[in-house]
Amino acid sequence: MMSLSETAAAFPWFFPSVAFFFGACIGSFLNVCIYRIPAEKSIVYPGSHCACGKPVAWHDNIPILSWIFLRGHARCCGRPFSIRYPAIELLTALLFVACWLAFPEAPGKAVCGWVLISALIAGSFIDLDHMIIPDVFTIGLGVCGVLLSFAIPSLHDQHGGLFIVDSMRAGLLSMLGVIVGSGFVLWFVLIMEAILKKEAMGFGDVKLVGAICAFTGWQGVFSALGVGSAIGLTWFSLAALYGKLTGKKTHAGLKAATPDGQPAELGLSVQFPFGPMIAMGGVIHFLWLHRWVAELAEQAKDLFLFQP
Ligand SMILES: [Zn+2]
Repeated sequence: MMSLSETAAAFPWFFPSVAFFFGACIGSFLNVCIYRIPAEKSIVYPGSHCACGKPVAWHDNIPILSWIFLRGHARCCGRPFSIRYPAIELLTALLFVACWLAFPEAPGKAVCGWVLISALIAGSFIDLDHMIIPDVFTIGLGVCGVLLSFAIPSLHDQHGGLFIVDSMRAGLLSMLGVIVGSGFVLWFVLIMEAILKKEAMGFGDVKLVGAICAFTGWQGVFSALGVGSAIGLTWFSLAALYGKLTGKKTHAGLKAATPDGQPAELGLSVQFPFGPMIAMGGVIHFLWLHRWVAELAEQAKDLFLFQP
């Protein structure tokens, strides 16, 4: 019998391939959640069915591939399916692989990352469609992050000691993350509202940052807000530029449609959903930036603390 690490060494493509396949399947399920949860429909029953009412056969429901084979049209009635479905499946698959590769020493942490990534993808696309993130993807994700931290302490890099000690430390780091992360954003929102005399960000964003920090620790708040704002600014500058150059009304490249074929509007001109930007900042921090932020904190400590 080969151990996990021996298998990984002998067949380096094996686990990333499994992560890709599993991610694509989860992405397919996220498509169901994104459409059904805001509509308050069951996410398990009935099974996948076309807008014409016919059930979709399993061989026409294979993530990414079926959409390509059917060229984006339903087999039963020929109605078009949005490219967003395979795009979400591919995005989830690629992020699952990236997450697996980011933590070669801690497969448990990678699996926790999959939970974070899945919830953030579903929450983001629901936010784009409906300008609201259901509590299950914010409060639910935060509670899940705290529980996972107690169960899998390597999520907060606590390992090597007694399990009970590691578990307590990781759980506390997670709860500290929730409190500091959401508290920081809450004060930011309150101060911006006092200055601007209007609503700056929704309280959904406060809950979302708290949930992300349950997984990343309190340091994640800087990436979620900083990187999130930078992505948001770039995204909308490009969209505005595109609109100016072509004279077209733009949806920032993310026009949404439900399986019923009804277009879902992206509110760009009036209000825009900030959740997806925060989510991207959070994922980037969890996968890559956390090392850099930890190094920065270490250097800051050397700079400010007198070393005898
Ligand atoms: Zn049909």
